[in-house]
Amino acid sequence: MSSPNAESTAFRSALEVIRAVEPRVAGAIAAELTDQRESLKLIASENYASPATLLAMGNWFSDKYAEGTVGRRFYAGCQNVDTVEALAAEHARELFGAAHAYVQPHSGIDANLVAFWAVLADRVEAPALEKARARHVNDLTEADWFALRRELGNQRMLGMSLDAGGHLTHGFRPNISGKMFDQRSYGTDPRTGLIDYDKVAEAAREFKPLILVAGYSAYPRRVNFRMMREIADSVGATFMVDMAHFAGLVAGKVLTGDFDPVPHAHIVTTTTHKSLRGPRGGMVLCQPELAEQVDRGCPMVLGGPLPHVMAAKAVALAEARRPDFADYANRIVANAQALAEGLLRRGADLVTGGTDNHLAIIDVTSYGLTGRQAEQALLDSGIVTNRNSVPQDPNGAWYTSGIRIGTPALTTRGLGTAEMDVIAELIHTVLSQTNAGSNADGTASKAKYALDAAVADKVSRQAGELLAGFPLYPTVDLT
Ligand SMILES: *Cc1c(COP(=O)(O)O)cnc(C)c1O
Repeated sequence: MSSPNAESTAFRSALEVIRAVEPRVAGAIAAELTDQRESLKLIASENYASPATLLAMGNWFSDKYAEGTVGRRFYAGCQNVDTVEALAAEHARELFGAAHAYVQPHSGIDANLVAFWAVLADRVEAPALEKARARHVNDLTEADWFALRRELGNQRMLGMSLDAGGHLTHGFRPNISGKMFDQRSYGTDPRTGLIDYDKVAEAAREFKPLILVAGYSAYPRRVNFRMMREIADSVGATFMVDMAHFAGLVAGKVLTGDFDPVPHAHIVTTTTHKSLRGPRGGMVLCQPELAEQVDRGCPMVLGGPLPHVMAAKAVALAEARRPDFADYANRIVANAQALAEGLLRRGADLVTGGTDNHLAIIDVTSYGLTGRQAEQALLDSGIVTNRNSVPQDPNGAWYTSGIRIGTPALTTRGLGTAEMDVIAELIHTVLSQTNAGSNADGTASKAKYALDAAVADKVSRQAGELLAGFPLYPTVDLT
């Protein structure tokens, strides 16, 4: 433990130094702390990193170029970067039981790109690839690149559909993965909302993907990775799991056995800032066969590594290896289940009828609302969520019919199951008191809504009172 006042002193001093140069930046940083302290954050992908993790990012590691890997850099003077990168990778391997960890990706999307490229480079027979493998990318001619693109053409990826909770980077058009791969997706059973593994197997047999991707941003259940691996093996696909959302539950040993992706997947990608509670960033874990290709992530796919963020990853991963992190991970799920049960008891409709991870999706059509209307009404009432598609969403990807809620952040603040029931009451109150609006021509609007300001104010006040009992960053006093 650091001394009682160390954290306050550190952040106060940092702000004083910044204020002397550009006071508006110092002001915005301080205001962000106030806003985060005051908002009831149910955004499933956000969390609060520890002061040690935050402080590890604000230093001269930011000044270093460190292209290459530990001990094999294209720049001189990387011995201290080597120390933190090796530490972060070691903590990651130990924490997840992985053969190899690559901690340079700047974000989850970047980690996925590194993984896709590694699999292509490993699996696709192409003379141009042989060249790329043999040389530093900077030595490849333009003709080499054109040859490579042609030769790689039309590889296939099978991933979870967006409306069932999949992620844009799993082969969808707005992301480069949708241009790199010919993509097909698997959805969920329309009756249960659950992944139908027989259907996944059938799609794999028909489509014969190079990569089978599992992982999600908005699926409230566990995924059986052992079964997914069997499906991948049956068609000779590489099995990749994107655990960006639930890495904290894997780290905390809530997801074990068939539900732990690491022993089953050839390659696993993640963010480090969601349930894992580290700095904003990404990471790739893989089997030994893919390690060499994965380590080429920078400069093949990534810009120069961020040594200050790798330092923070090492700190956060060290924290996640402590026994209290397992307790945290268990409380995340207990809280999500309490919140889901509280909503169900009050008549809300949840996708799959509940949750067994860190998130739940409320289907707000039963309240007569779109996701967009519900999101705004909740925000007016001091509750921060995000709208999200539900399977076969009638309102499309912009307005949507769902609200995604998650408990990693509030669990970090210390809220427990009793508080989750209060929050369920607040959410239900807002949604049941909000009415969908109409357009000037009398047709139903998907965006306009009406919520009595007195209701919004009252809920906002109650949310504030609830949060006051669970101070955020209690060791940090900026006054
Ligand atoms: C959040 C998320 C990502 C993207 O992470 P960024 O750090 O925002 O790039 C990728 N995959 C999944 C499944 C995610 O949930």
